Amino acid sequence: MFRALAAHWFAKFSALKATMTDSCIFCKVINDEAKATIVYRDEQVTAFRDIHPVGPVHILIVPNKHIQSVNEMDEADKPLVGHMIFTAKRIAAQEHIAEGGYHLIMNTGPNGGQTVFHMHLHLIGGDRMKHPMG
Ligand code: 5GP
Ligand code: ZN
Repeated sequence: MFRALAAHWFAKFSALKATMTDSCIFCKVINDEAKATIVYRDEQVTAFRDIHPVGPVHILIVPNKHIQSVNEMDEADKPLVGHMIFTAKRIAAQEHIAEGGYHLIMNTGPNGGQTVFHMHLHLIGGDRMKHPMG
């Protein structure tokens, strides 16, 4: 009885997880199923240029695993988020915007201006933003 119930819920959860990631544009970029200009990639994160840049440099640093937003982060994801910020710092130097400065933004939820529900960090620089995001 318990095994049957567990199998049922596991199947339901797997289906839900599959639906989330299958329809997620950032999961597709990470899995090379959608095109993007990738500037950095390792086992934890993928970084690529935003399709609608709001500054001379606009790069998204995205965890390779699907986390919907900061709200869905687990305690165990704390090192991953540190790695996202450290990756942004390294890319800022690569893109020659470190000296001038830059924005690191994580929009969260509809009122936070989030439009793609796969957690990501915006790295924006190269100029002062005339219209801050949001
Ligand atoms: P949010 O509004 O969720 O904080 O940011 C989502 C960002 O993803 C936006 O800046 C948007 O321009 C970017 N974006 C949406 N779809 C795509 C895509 O298919 N490819 C790339 N490279 N960027 C995308
Ligand atoms: Zn995703």
